[in-house]
Amino acid sequence: MVLKVRELVQKIKVKSVLNKQKYADDWFLSNYSINPYSGCSFNCVYCYTRGSKYGEHQVPGLAAKINAPEVLVKQLKTRARKREYGFIAFGSATDPYLQVEKDLKITRELLMIILRFHFPVHLLTRSPLILRDLDILKKIGEKAILPDEFKDKTDTGVVLSFSFSTTDEHLANIFEPGAPSPKERLETMKQCKDAGFIVGAIFMPLLPFLSDSEEHLDKMIQDVKLNGADFVMASGLTLFGEGPNDCKTRYYEVLEEHFPELVFQTKAIFRNSFAPSRKYQEELHERFVRLCQKYQIRNKIY
Ligand code: SF4
Repeated sequence: MVLKVRELVQKIKVKSVLNKQKYADDWFLSNYSINPYSGCSFNCVYCYTRGSKYGEHQVPGLAAKINAPEVLVKQLKTRARKREYGFIAFGSATDPYLQVEKDLKITRELLMIILRFHFPVHLLTRSPLILRDLDILKKIGEKAILPDEFKDKTDTGVVLSFSFSTTDEHLANIFEPGAPSPKERLETMKQCKDAGFIVGAIFMPLLPFLSDSEEHLDKMIQDVKLNGADFVMASGLTLFGEGPNDCKTRYYEVLEEHFPELVFQTKAIFRNSFAPSRKYQEELHERFVRLCQKYQIRNKIY
């Protein structure tokens, strides 16, 4: 993997690392979430954590939560004692396999603790570094205690997802300058599938007028299916904030530079909202569901 953005990382201590969701997220399959890092060096232009509530507790730049393993032991011990088993999601506000993880191994340590307490995991990443941890993930899959609502749906406690806004290398290079290429992600997904995992692709976000067309989506679904995806999910772009580093500002700057002809029509579907119009979202959903049917692939995890 070529490191395109230098990772300068500070080390911080946290009081909590396991976040209990208010409601279990059926779509993302999570009762809890964990982010081993604060910030994300993959530096996607559209990253929704910049300017939204999802990033409001992040420290500036990239930080590693160095005491996360000891904090997680305490938190999972309590949850396990009360038998509050549920899927733990990695990847909601940072990628768990940033380049810095290669040396720090915080995600790996957290997975070993999760294995010890028998919790299931849904891990979302863009990085081939996940291959390093397939040994632990395999054991988590076998040992995890599943929440009751999943017992008739699956017998494994691990789902591995890979996110894409496109599978086109040129577009990805513009909008995801620090992330592993789509080709690397597809190859990694295939290797995870061949190793026996349930794998899927999350198209999040699809870029308006760039990767959301019938033709582009058709190709993306073919690409992920060819590389072993058991499911695929999709959602549209969201744009937050007015500050110089917020995703809305950065997205329009990049659009002006590379696709100036799309600025007007993109602004037209967002109007003054952080999300595109309902009509746009409904048409995107309808297109996506139809293409999933065409390729006989699930449009949800279970
Ligand atoms: S990989 Fe995810 S968390 Fe990281 S910059 Fe990209 S969108 Fe943000």
